[in-house]
Amino acid sequence: MTTTSADPVTFEDALERYDPVMGMEVHVELNTASKMFCGCSTVFGAEPNTQVCPVCLGLPGALPVVNARAIESAIKIGLALNCSIAPWCRFARKNYFYPDMPKNFQTSQYDEPIAYSGWTEIEVDGVSYRIEIERAHMEEDTGKSLHVGGATGRIHGASHSLVDYNRAGIPLIEIVTKPIEGTGAKSPEVARAYVAHLRELVLGLGVSDVRMEQGSMRCDVNLSLRPIGVTTLGTRSETKNVNSLRSVERAVRHEIGRHAAVLDGGNRIVQETRHWHEDTGVTTAGREKSDAEDYRYFPEPDLVPVAPSREWVEALRAQLPEPPSLHRARLQADWAFSDLEMRDVAGAGAMSLVAETVAAGAAPQAAKKWWLSELARYANEHDIAIDDVPMSPEQVAQVQGLLDAGRINDKLARQVFDGVLAGEGTPEEVVARRGLEVVSDDSALGDAVDRAIDANPDVAAKIAASKHAAAGALIGAVMKEMRGRADAGRVRELILARLG
Ligand SMILES: [Zn+2]
Repeated sequence: MTTTSADPVTFEDALERYDPVMGMEVHVELNTASKMFCGCSTVFGAEPNTQVCPVCLGLPGALPVVNARAIESAIKIGLALNCSIAPWCRFARKNYFYPDMPKNFQTSQYDEPIAYSGWTEIEVDGVSYRIEIERAHMEEDTGKSLHVGGATGRIHGASHSLVDYNRAGIPLIEIVTKPIEGTGAKSPEVARAYVAHLRELVLGLGVSDVRMEQGSMRCDVNLSLRPIGVTTLGTRSETKNVNSLRSVERAVRHEIGRHAAVLDGGNRIVQETRHWHEDTGVTTAGREKSDAEDYRYFPEPDLVPVAPSREWVEALRAQLPEPPSLHRARLQADWAFSDLEMRDVAGAGAMSLVAETVAAGAAPQAAKKWWLSELARYANEHDIAIDDVPMSPEQVAQVQGLLDAGRINDKLARQVFDGVLAGEGTPEEVVARRGLEVVSDDSALGDAVDRAIDANPDVAAKIAASKHAAAGALIGAVMKEMRGRADAGRVRELILARLG
């Protein structure tokens, strides 16, 4: 029995016969200043193995201490997901060996998670889906292996591997859904919308920067198929570390087709982890995994139980920000956007960027326009998240300010964006350096208008005969000569004055 060799089945075909069931496991790296059980810094990008100590290196005799801020963040996430918060819970040791885990066990939570039995709601194409949350538990991150000497950075073909323990012990929250059923052909989009929603929710809580491309939010997608009409669950695969919203959608779509092909061939799905390949859009087999994998969990003897007081939990509940759905409804009313416009902004991941651009003084429509056109395109071309575009909402508002003041036109604005994105400075500096300001001074424009009239006598004759629509051709000629910098309105006035 194999799960690899089978004719591919299209997504549409698969859904005619099978009903997909998903489960999402999302790891969120908290933005605490120090690690989960020691005082080491969590700053991203430091020299390897400079942010370590006996506790996070797992040296004998070192004793961990729980980071109170991490507990607070975990409770906030649990409350935002409508979970119950355990009055008493413990950490547990999850025993397994992996080179990037120096203790040979991960301090996690097992049957006593801090938050459980919650729910949240998402929307896809105007339809709401309620996602049930099984649990949100606390654990620590592992270190990072670097495979050197191969072409791909993967372990295959590498000559040796290096380990960086800076990340070992950074607090993580793992959020696990109950099986997500009944989403049918919308499954890939529901999966994506759920992760996008979670990202927005956690960002709103201020407990993580949730950057998928830096790994501070990582997503595992569980998927199984069952024949339509059957209620028992099929065997699932677990696709690990699907690290962009687009990949979440693609991975679900791919796995649905792959499972269908295996099942159609009369074979069994092997319960295993799968690796997602961003470049080729397929998954490949990882390791086989049984349900009751024996991690020999037992309560962590070096840590006291966590027992948050009701007062503390209620105080945190009172501080929760407006839920994303309400927040979005308020923004939509403030901006006077249609449902479709809001969906476009949300889909681009630009909600807070547009909000900040509006707060910096741009009109909502203008803010939306720039983020969804020039800046979304830049992000796409450079394969980065839109948040990482090297231009701030304030700078976008400044470009719009130059436009509103008539100092540049729409075409020149695009060149200002190019300049700022290329690192040439602020919008004002780019305008000055590239000489992009609109010319509305009559003496400079007059000569160009005269030359355009002389070069196009036929057009000039039409305009003189009151065919003012013909002026467009002369305005175009002036614009061309002045490399788009002429004030088109003033040019038109000058042409009509000369020929009127
Ligand atoms: Zn440490």
